[in-house]
Amino acid sequence: MNAVELTRELVRIDTINPMSPERPCAERVGKLLAEAGFAVTKHEFAPGRTSVVARRDGPDALCFAGHTDTVPLGAAKWKHDPFGGELSGGLLYGRGSSDMKSGVAAMVAAALDLAKRPLRKGLVLVLVAGEETGCEGAAHLARTKALGSAGAMIVGEPTGNVPVVGHKGALWLKARTRGVTAHGSMPEKGVNAVVKAARAVLALQEFSFDVARDPLLGSPTLNVGTFQGGLNVNSVPDEAVIGIDIRTIPAQRHAELRKRLQDALGADVELESIVDLEGIRTPEDHAFVQSAIDAVAQVTGDRPKAGTATYFTDASVLTPAFGGIPTVILGPGEMALCHQTDEHCRVERVEQAVEIYSRVARAWCAP
Ligand SMILES: [Zn+2]
Repeated sequence: MNAVELTRELVRIDTINPMSPERPCAERVGKLLAEAGFAVTKHEFAPGRTSVVARRDGPDALCFAGHTDTVPLGAAKWKHDPFGGELSGGLLYGRGSSDMKSGVAAMVAAALDLAKRPLRKGLVLVLVAGEETGCEGAAHLARTKALGSAGAMIVGEPTGNVPVVGHKGALWLKARTRGVTAHGSMPEKGVNAVVKAARAVLALQEFSFDVARDPLLGSPTLNVGTFQGGLNVNSVPDEAVIGIDIRTIPAQRHAELRKRLQDALGADVELESIVDLEGIRTPEDHAFVQSAIDAVAQVTGDRPKAGTATYFTDASVLTPAFGGIPTVILGPGEMALCHQTDEHCRVERVEQAVEIYSRVARAWCAP
């Protein structure tokens, strides 16, 4: 199977999340893998929102993970048909070409090739729906125990074929304060929820994470992104809501952090999680990371240093669901082109990724 042709084929299937469900894309890759002898199961967290798990039995499986959904096209006009899969000057254009149908196609092509060889270990592909809106497909697979087991994982998100060993987590919270409304001319008869929320914002500015800096990812951050309260100027507001965006590092556990935030804000502030995805990090000197770096060096001639990503990935869900296995994010798409107008990827990198995935798998399966 030619990975570039498969990328073009997948780009031509509109899977914009949430308007265009992933099922046709999932069926296409599922069929290819089933024909190659993989045991394929499909799982839907909502009608048409299909994730695929394809497994070739064996101990200590290597997992290839990716997502088949894309983000919307945006308001700006595209020069290249977003669903055309056009090739021009060594580039492949279309929505999802970088993020991450090229990664999915390269993983499927590598798996079809590996299926022809005797492997001493298992191989599992987890190709999920609904990543872009908060890893819903991966969470559904984890919740329904559809994943089985694996010993190491590659996530094919766009990294320009540079192994990435970690990314921050995201904890997005809604903080609500309540008061008692009263006429604006008699504020002493009410309790002002906006004032309580303002105190909460100031407390958040003072909040200290008390965690050692991660050498690659740096320190956690906190930003108050929204503040809503009050309906009319001449009433005491009885409700205010602030939106908090916290980017954590992998040493932090979100449950514990939420408890500390609650203590700092006091009982007057109600916290609710909107997004709760922990960061991931595999040590650079881990043998699996080294084998990925070796494979990239053999295929591209350049020996990259392990990097980090600014985005979060399905690894936030899948890595803990597999019991904290070593995880490398490595894919042919370009990090800078995700979600952009005229998104594209480099054809050469797609071809290289197939060979890189195949080499990592062979190294993993070597005695
Ligand atoms: Zn992605």
